[in-house]
Amino acid sequence: MSETRHNWTKEEILEIYNKPLMELLYEAATIHRQSHDPNVVQVSTLLSIKTGGCSEDCGYCPQAARYHTGVEGDDLMGVSQVKAQALRAKASGSSRVCMGAAWRNVKDGPEFDQVLEMVRTINKLDMEVCCTLGMLTENQAKRLAEAGLYAYNHNLDTSEEYYKEVISTRGFEDRLETIDNVRKTNVTVCSGGIIGMGESLEDRAGMLVALSTLNPQPESVPINALVAVDGTPMEDEKPVEIWEMIRMVATTRIVMPETQVRLSAGRTQMSREGQAMCFFAGANSIFAGDKLLTTPNPDVSEDMKMFEMLGLKPQKPFTKRVQPQTVEATESQYEAMGEKPKWTRPEHKIERNEAAKAKAKEIRQEIKENESKIVEEVK
Ligand code: SF4
Repeated sequence: MSETRHNWTKEEILEIYNKPLMELLYEAATIHRQSHDPNVVQVSTLLSIKTGGCSEDCGYCPQAARYHTGVEGDDLMGVSQVKAQALRAKASGSSRVCMGAAWRNVKDGPEFDQVLEMVRTINKLDMEVCCTLGMLTENQAKRLAEAGLYAYNHNLDTSEEYYKEVISTRGFEDRLETIDNVRKTNVTVCSGGIIGMGESLEDRAGMLVALSTLNPQPESVPINALVAVDGTPMEDEKPVEIWEMIRMVATTRIVMPETQVRLSAGRTQMSREGQAMCFFAGANSIFAGDKLLTTPNPDVSEDMKMFEMLGLKPQKPFTKRVQPQTVEATESQYEAMGEKPKWTRPEHKIERNEAAKAKAKEIRQEIKENESKIVEEVK
């Protein structure tokens, strides 16, 4: 049995990543089988409960309001709409619903109360509930836990060093603090990152050092391949090669043997053979549904055909941990504290983020001028 280590170094991780592929695959698959059923894959459905209009400047994200990407900002979804989508996800084989809101951080108030009600509603459907809502205080994490939250997603995205090249509106330490706040509850941690953002292999290893040295390690680690969306600062990044994804998955599996490794964004660019190799290398979780927040994802029926072909079975809910209990709002021990935590705002300049923002400004100006011209002509 492979022991879980919390002292991996960048050099050790790079050595694993760069092994001859057959050796790397064999080692990862062997470790995978010690803690997981290789024929079972967990299926999650990602729901964007509040899309677009985000104040952050994450260079990979089409939901950042400052870039021009064609993503329209929406209001927070209603509880009944979320329930209907969760029921649909359950019927198509998902055991988990992950609700994403394009927020910098959670703010106490009616919208957060509505999210807590969504968590209660989905937990009562006997599905695992995950949220990704941005930075979170300890009290907010406790309120989510009490509502029946199973997991909280908060990605580290990349290495601490490269983080400064991707986001200027918050610091890497804010991410760690939120994960720490989640760890003060029974909610499990889902945290991973994105490859293909122009980072070096050292940065990929650095991200795995940051994740694997957390104690306990995250229960779930999503590995995303960048989907380069027009209008974002990373629109010109070249697609990640399947071999990079396979190596990243295998390395993640070796350094975090108990974790569920999730194949996340970028699956539309992968062949079935490529995905099968990722499952062999230790991936045992996917996102289902034709959209991942705002970017395309394979259709559920396509995934189910792939499962059938590979002899894979969807994981049942609460296989790894018992279902949390839901406490009703009226019985709650915790109240909104109206906290205003001082999350970091480094605000350093990232050239490509600034360029994408300037380009968006020009496009918006052009649209405005064209609209005025049309109004004049109609007059
Ligand atoms: S990744 Fe999240 S925080 Fe960053 S811009 Fe997108 S929605 Fe906002």
